[in-house]
Amino acid sequence: MSDVELVLRSTRVVTPEGTRAASVAVAGGTITAVLVHDADVPAGARLEDLGDDVLLPGLVDTHVHVNDPGRTEWEGFWTATRAAAAGGITTIVDMPLNSLPPTTTAENLRTKQEVARTKAHIDVGFWGGALPDNLKDLRPLHDAGVFGFKAFLSPSGVDEFPELDQEQLGRSLAEIAGFGGLLIVHAEDPHQLAAAPQQSGGRYADFLASRPKDAENRAVENLIAQAKRLHARVHVLHLSSSDALPLIATAKREGVRVTVESCPHFLTLTAEEVPDGATEFKCCPPIREASNQDALWAGLADGTIDCIVSDHSPSTKDLKTDDFATAWGGISSLQLGLPAIWTEARRRGHTLEDVVRWMAAGPAELAGLSQKGAIQAGRDADFAVLAPDETFTVDPAELHHRNQVTAYAGRTLHGVVTSTWLRGERILAGSEFTEPRGRLLTRHP
Ligand SMILES: [Zn+2]
Repeated sequence: MSDVELVLRSTRVVTPEGTRAASVAVAGGTITAVLVHDADVPAGARLEDLGDDVLLPGLVDTHVHVNDPGRTEWEGFWTATRAAAAGGITTIVDMPLNSLPPTTTAENLRTKQEVARTKAHIDVGFWGGALPDNLKDLRPLHDAGVFGFKAFLSPSGVDEFPELDQEQLGRSLAEIAGFGGLLIVHAEDPHQLAAAPQQSGGRYADFLASRPKDAENRAVENLIAQAKRLHARVHVLHLSSSDALPLIATAKREGVRVTVESCPHFLTLTAEEVPDGATEFKCCPPIREASNQDALWAGLADGTIDCIVSDHSPSTKDLKTDDFATAWGGISSLQLGLPAIWTEARRRGHTLEDVVRWMAAGPAELAGLSQKGAIQAGRDADFAVLAPDETFTVDPAELHHRNQVTAYAGRTLHGVVTSTWLRGERILAGSEFTEPRGRLLTRHP
């Protein structure tokens, strides 16, 4: 083992065994030991005493639309990974759509990796995409290291990424299960959506009625049935409808291999407070009522929901028109997920240990990132340092996202990220970034 180079000391270190005063030893970019607070600092090692600021594992966000190359004016690896670092995130997994090309062949994956390589301030992995016509590309993508495959059941919003019908879903899922892969699904049923009232304009209530809970519930039900039939592993993306939680809980109890994520906007914003015309709040599935949000928090508390990820899906300002029917659907929150969730979690009596379980350990486990997501000997020395009681008011101009459009503007949030560390190097201190030193990650064989 190489010699200890760095010791991070804090009165509050969040480890899988709980929060305690500790000194974390780092060598060669890896955590070598979690020691008592006043442990001797080995000769030649640098001590970084964080005082009472909390040392968290770097967060893992497995749901980010970077859109690079092709729609780089919406976001890009340079801006997305800086925003993520500023939000305490040290690993993202990029979604396969909204970039051109989409990540639907091994060659397209290589194109995206080349673009990301020199711009990544944090570690970046990739999901592949399952389309109606790329069955033959799934195995090569898996072998090239994607973490799993994303599919839509209803229109995705971009023409180059069409949805699967139930038969195509079954075929793709059988193929993916054949090599032990993971299918992650945007679960809204197209028939339920088609049956819902479609009203254009700026009223949020009309938009909400056009994306009913039943569409999510039916899609989740069908997905669970397919997973059960094929003994396949599936993951429900961005769950908004709390009515689907009992279905998922039952399936988990029965041994179906299903996991589920929700997002900061479903857990911290409510339909009741969305101003008419405010399409920075538009996403699919939609932000629902406060009562639905309470039930989602109960699903987090009882373990039905496995993780919280951003679904950061930005666009340029001009695509956020004041018509909910046609405005781009996606919420920008990469930099704000941790303080948004921490603010609401603490109000509801949860701890930073819970937040770490939902935003670091949970997503790392979903993607099989065994070197990420916890402060533990043997894992990467990735950290977020948080002043949990400090507050700030969200000023869009201070966000590192390419486009300063956000549903969180003007909100006062708890939790200021004071520094972010990647493999033992401080990559962000205050507002100063180092040169990019992120790595491209591939699924462990
Ligand atoms: Zn998404």
